[in-house]
Amino acid sequence: MASYKKLLCIGLALDPIHVGSGGARLGRVDLTIVRDPVTRIPKIPGSSLAGVYRTYVAMAEHEQNSNRQVNGQSWPYYPHCAGLGQPKGEHYLGHCAQPDCPVCTVFGFARGRDQAGGFAGLAAFTDAHVLLFPVPTRRGPRWVTCPDALRLVGLEVQGVDQNAVYLGSTQNNTLNLGWLLLPVMECAQFGEITQTLQKFNIPEYIHEHLALVPDRLFPHIVNSNLEVRTSVAINPATGAAEEQALFSYEALPRGTVLAWEIIAKNPKHFLIGGKEICAVKTPDDVHQKVQVAHPYLEHLGIGGMGTRGMGRLKVLCSSQAAENSMLKKVNCRDSAPSTTDSPSGLSESSTEFPEE
Ligand SMILES: [Zn+2]
Repeated sequence: MASYKKLLCIGLALDPIHVGSGGARLGRVDLTIVRDPVTRIPKIPGSSLAGVYRTYVAMAEHEQNSNRQVNGQSWPYYPHCAGLGQPKGEHYLGHCAQPDCPVCTVFGFARGRDQAGGFAGLAAFTDAHVLLFPVPTRRGPRWVTCPDALRLVGLEVQGVDQNAVYLGSTQNNTLNLGWLLLPVMECAQFGEITQTLQKFNIPEYIHEHLALVPDRLFPHIVNSNLEVRTSVAINPATGAAEEQALFSYEALPRGTVLAWEIIAKNPKHFLIGGKEICAVKTPDDVHQKVQVAHPYLEHLGIGGMGTRGMGRLKVLCSSQAAENSMLKKVNCRDSAPSTTDSPSGLSESSTEFPEE
């Protein structure tokens, strides 16, 4: 039996998403988001995903079984098996570390009972990378991607190397991506790319408005078109803006499509406190457990500024894929309901601008 199985997840940002880097940077924005150190493209770190999935799976388990006990003591999954795991006072007992706990086995625990050592968990999360990024153009929004990003979903695209925007046809000479005006070129693989994205349940209004750019232009286009908001603290005594309390923060815009993987280890290869894991038996069970978090991700979201209308992430497709045969196996279109509503304002603008 396989030692591990991979689950590829594709998610659509229903709100802007701000996963903060935890520090301020000298420059345009006070609160920056996490970026890949090499490409400078914003991402959601796997650690953030793991923490949020853990919380939501614990919530779901708690809803199923709110009278849960461990050795005769009341030990609800939420909040005890969520969180950091170190017991604190009488209100937070910490992780239960039981082999029958679906939260502690799948996500690991900080330290066993009796200081027996921790467990790394059966599910491993990769960073979520930008697959498609919405950019305003004079012909309405376009979802921009590049060969490097398409590799996340198993696509190899050749010949996208000029300083240009590649489309399915070259009806127009130029197209602006934000402030950047580029010549239009034709990509022979455009149909293949669209077809693959369709399989991932990516809505039509997105995969019909793709634009490809070379890898070296993609970070510039993403970083020039992030959402930047400004907030100010309110003085509770006056109800007016506090002096010197203005700050700005950036976020991945609504409509960004992200891709990440969840690798499930085989529970049969591990013991907890000398006992076999019984909460989950196979890598498939692990994947089934983590996916319980997806509806919560869509409604409660991820990252910061949740009270300011940020963070909701709708998982469009989560599909097991064997190594190197991803495209043959993935087909979310048949299984998942395709009820994604177009976030208002993101469908193609009907305003036509004069041709060049
Ligand atoms: Zn637990």
